[in-house]
Parts: sequence; C-alpha cells; structure tokens
Amino acid sequence: MKKQNMKQNQKNERVYIFDTTLRDGEQAPGASLNTDEKMKIAVQLEKLGVDIIEAGFPAASPGDFEAVEKIARMVKKSVVAGLARAIKKDIEACAKAIKPAKRGRIHTFISSSDIHLKYQFKKTREEALQSAVEAVKLARHFSDDVEFSAMDASRSELDYLCKMIEMAIKHGARTVNIPDTVGYAVPDDFGKTIAAIRNRVPNINKAVISVHCHNDLGLAVSNSVSAIQNGARQVECTINGIGERAGNASLEEIVMILKTRADKYPYYTNITTKEIYKTSRLVSTLTGFMIQPNKAIVGNNAFAHESGIHQDGMLKYRQTYEIMTPQEIGIPSSRLVMGKHSGRHAFKKRLEDLGYHLSEELLETLFARFKDLADKKKDVYDEDIEALIEEKIFSSTELYQMTYLHTSAGSSTLPTATLKIKKGDHEVQEAATGDGPVDAVFNAIDRATGFKGKLVNYALKALTQGRDAQGEVTVSLTINGDEVHGRGISTDVIEASAKAYLNGVNKLLLGHKKKSAKAAFEAMKGVKL
Ligand code: MN
Repeated sequence: MKKQNMKQNQKNERVYIFDTTLRDGEQAPGASLNTDEKMKIAVQLEKLGVDIIEAGFPAASPGDFEAVEKIARMVKKSVVAGLARAIKKDIEACAKAIKPAKRGRIHTFISSSDIHLKYQFKKTREEALQSAVEAVKLARHFSDDVEFSAMDASRSELDYLCKMIEMAIKHGARTVNIPDTVGYAVPDDFGKTIAAIRNRVPNINKAVISVHCHNDLGLAVSNSVSAIQNGARQVECTINGIGERAGNASLEEIVMILKTRADKYPYYTNITTKEIYKTSRLVSTLTGFMIQPNKAIVGNNAFAHESGIHQDGMLKYRQTYEIMTPQEIGIPSSRLVMGKHSGRHAFKKRLEDLGYHLSEELLETLFARFKDLADKKKDVYDEDIEALIEEKIFSSTELYQMTYLHTSAGSSTLPTATLKIKKGDHEVQEAATGDGPVDAVFNAIDRATGFKGKLVNYALKALTQGRDAQGEVTVSLTINGDEVHGRGISTDVIEASAKAYLNGVNKLLLGHKKKSAKAAFEAMKGVKL
C-alpha cells in the first residue's frame, strides 16, 4: 500500500501554494494588522508549509515596508514575496524590503485589459507592454525570483495577454500570474484561458503559471481548481478566503480539495493540513474577521452532524457521512474539560495537545490566568484556553490597558461607568453615563483616550456552552473612514465589551496603513495620556 502511494506521488505534480493573507487579505476593509500581528501570522504560515508568503506591498507605506522586511529576516523555509507596481520606486522599495530573505521574490504587475489601460493607467497597449518589460528587467536586477502579474487578465484580449506573458518570461519572469482581479471569470472559460496560454505562449515552459482568483461570484476556488487542471501550478490564496471585496480563493478549501479528491486531481501540495485549523483561528483572531459557521473546512459546523440519520450512520461507520476527518485539519479530537482542580502539569499537557509549546515564563502567566478563570466558571474548555493565549497575544501590543472597571445599571438607575486606563506609567480615571452600561463604558473610554471615532458594529456571542460561558465581543470602529475590528473576552460581558472597544481603539491608534497613520495622528491630537 505504502509503495503504491509513493508511486502515485511520484506521478503526481506539485502545486505551489502562494499565500497572500498578509497582502490581499490585509487589504480587506477593516482587516488592518500591525507588524507584530503580521509576524505572528507569518510564523504560522511557515509552519503550515506554504511555499510563498506574500508579506505586503512595501511601497504602500513605511509600515508595510517594515513588516515585509521583518518577515523577510525571520522566515527561513518559505519564499518571502513583496508586491510592486511596474514602477521604478515600487520595485526598488520591494527589493530593499526582501533583501534580508533567504529566498525573496519581487512580484510586479501591470494591467493587461483595455478597460484598465484606457481608464485607469491611461496607457496604450504598447506602452503597457514596455512598462512590463522594464519592470521585469529591473526586478531581475535585484532578484532571480521574479513574478509578473497581468492584472485583470481574465478580461483581457487573449492575443495581447499572451504577448505580454511571453515578453515577461523573455526578460526573466519565473512565474507568470493570471489574475481574475474582479472575480468575473467562470470555471470552464478560465480553464480554457489557462490552456490557451499554455498552448500559445512559445516560452511558457520556462515559467510557472499562477492564478489569483477573487470570489465576487463565489467561484474563486472553482476557478483555481479549473486552472490547475489546465496547467496552473501555483495558486494564490488566503486563509479563510479573506481579501478585497468578497475575498480571495480560500487556501484551506483548495488544499483539502486536492487532498480529499486525489482520485480525480493528481496533484499534491506541501501543506501540513494539521496546521490548517490553528492558522485559520489565528487569522480570524488577529483580523477580527469571524468565520461563518457553515464555512467549508474551518467553520464551526463543518464537522458537526446534527441530523439523527447522519448521527446514526456516523456511529456505525464514520465514512458514511464524513469525507474528511476533523483530525486531518488539526481540530483537537477531544474537547477536554478542565476546572479549578486541574494542576499545572495537566494545563501544560493540554496546551501541548492543542499545539502550543510555550516558554516556562509564559506558561506561569497563563496558568495564573487559568486559575482565575476556573474560579469564575466551573468548566474550562479548549476554546477558553485558546482565548487566554489569544488575549496574551493582544496585550503584548496594546497601547492602553484597562486596570479598573466599575459599572452600575438597572431599571431605575442612570447607567454609569468608572474606569482606569493605563498607558506606560500614566494612569487616568474617567467616568461617564450612557444609554446602557456598555454605552457608558465606551463613553468613558473615549474620554480617557481622546478617541473620537464611531462604533459601526457590535456583536456578542458565548464562547462555549453553559450559563457561565465567557462572552466574546467584537466591535467595528471607524475614524476618518478607516475601519478596524476589536475583540474582547471575559466572563463578564460588560468587561468583554470594554476590552473589545479598547482593543479597537489601540489598533486604530497603532495603525500603520497610510489611512490609519493619518487617522492615528488625528486621534492622537485629543489624547490625554
Ligand atoms: Mn487580488
């Protein structure tokens, strides 16, 4: 059996996974990540086994540059790519940012569709072709690994697209990317485009064909798979499918399609599927983008069998209704419950089972918090333990920290909140009233931090079952049109709300994106601390 598998694998062709969670994913409205958060995701992406990590767009802002450079310094196994328009200053910034990488890639692009060239770039086809050639040549001057993208390829005239790809390869592009930038393609057409490129571009065997699909019509994954069947050997995708507008092709779906349906698709990837769940959770936590319960592969209900007939079948023979196992993507098999009698050793063991190998120091801090939590709620679930770790991740980057909170509310009192907020060595105390205790808390935080943003969304959910479950609050805040998400967890939902709001304020103030930097500056003007 084993021998047969090996033979099979030798015959199968490899598909390279190019993850753009930190670039296209981070471009999603409200998903801004700071450098520290990007680095945490990059570490996990490398563990997941992605071949290429697109770490950002270095010319976009100093923050983006810094993140790409730091990731380039840190990552050893994956290729680290940076995005650059077909413009000298972009390519130079990108080259500088990826310089420390063991294996760095410059990813440069220009549009190939008439609609983009005419209305956005104001270039003729000949001019765009020339820009593409010069960009690739310049990029090759800095790196052997150059990828060229023909933006809006799926809406471009095929002869011209083929010409542009041929020229990019001729001048040194090792990967040529065919994006469906606006999510307009459908699987059979898109597959045919890839096949045509393979047949028509004379030097195509000198480059890897890549695809980059958007999900505006819900076809990003289908289009990517169709492209693979027609010769694409690199797929650009993101964790949880996040990205511009409706998002990008979802990494976990593509990888699990190729794995689960290996009978139909003779390809393989280098992905360690057991790391999928953890990566998905980390990205969701740090971006504040919740995963819909019915999301394929990583949604909470993806492996939940509710119907009686299905459950009966599952108990008799799992494969009756299960095409993949939760273990394959790293969902912990038993939801072990812990409580206040659980000791340090059991806690450490559980963390290790969940995939966390932490320093003794961090373990001590978390154990103390675990004990506090076990005093407040009887059963501590895996989700609670993971929330403790995630909270620790948050607090390491917080500008403001809440040290005290008191609220009073009721049917005949005016809701009031008093809190103390710390920034460095300074502490300030504020009180405010509101429509309800949550509103009062938010008003008090605004006063203490000088924040003048707007709350656009508020959601509260129970993290686990039971009346003593921890509440998880997510908020969306905007300031000057810039949006971020904040998240907070506590057994007390008012406290969770305060933490979420403050987390959002911190993210806005620490924001590094162009718009965020301006917003942060505006917001800082009124800061008291
Ligand atoms: Mn894109």
